[in-house]
Amino acid sequence: MIRAGIDIIASIAAGFYTTGRHLFVRPFTESYPEYKRPLPARSRARIILTRDPEGRERCVACYLCSGVCPVNCISMQAAEDSRGRRYAAWFRINFGRCIYCGLCEQACPTSAIQLTPDFEHIRRDLLDMVFEKQDLLVDHCGKDPDYDFYQHAGVVTGLAGKGDHISENAPVNTRTNMP
Ligand code: SF4
Ligand code: SF4
Repeated sequence: MIRAGIDIIASIAAGFYTTGRHLFVRPFTESYPEYKRPLPARSRARIILTRDPEGRERCVACYLCSGVCPVNCISMQAAEDSRGRRYAAWFRINFGRCIYCGLCEQACPTSAIQLTPDFEHIRRDLLDMVFEKQDLLVDHCGKDPDYDFYQHAGVVTGLAGKGDHISENAPVNTRTNMP
């Protein structure tokens, strides 16, 4: 009983202390949009599609981001170029539904899709919130400047042969493993 009373008095005193601390501090009003507070790089707002260090599109249209998206706001169609390299023929995000959870970025194996701190992409018309590939694709690497999926993937697309990729072992002739 006494203990509970002390806890109540302590929490009331803490509340007054917090209020008192701010009583004589000069108020600071952020005048947006004149002043834009710098946001951390990992803030989750507008989504972009990035390029690899060679300037090629990173997205390989694997559908993982659209599969993991809890609100189904990503859609695309896969295509393949003459070297067997996959890309998205079209790629669409409906920002009217996006909840900026970041799951698509976490699921992406190529670091193509990334959320950025840019939150100023809101439009008045809901239909204008549907962004196509040309609206999403940027000409830089985003947060992961050195990463090139095809250098690690072991897929022969003209960059390297089998066994030549980063951390990749040379192919094994399975017949030599047979007893
Ligand atoms: S941030 Fe979340 S809701 Fe938005 S596109 Fe990515 S997975 Fe979907
Ligand atoms: S953005 Fe990433 S996860 Fe989504 S389809 Fe492209 S490569 Fe796959």
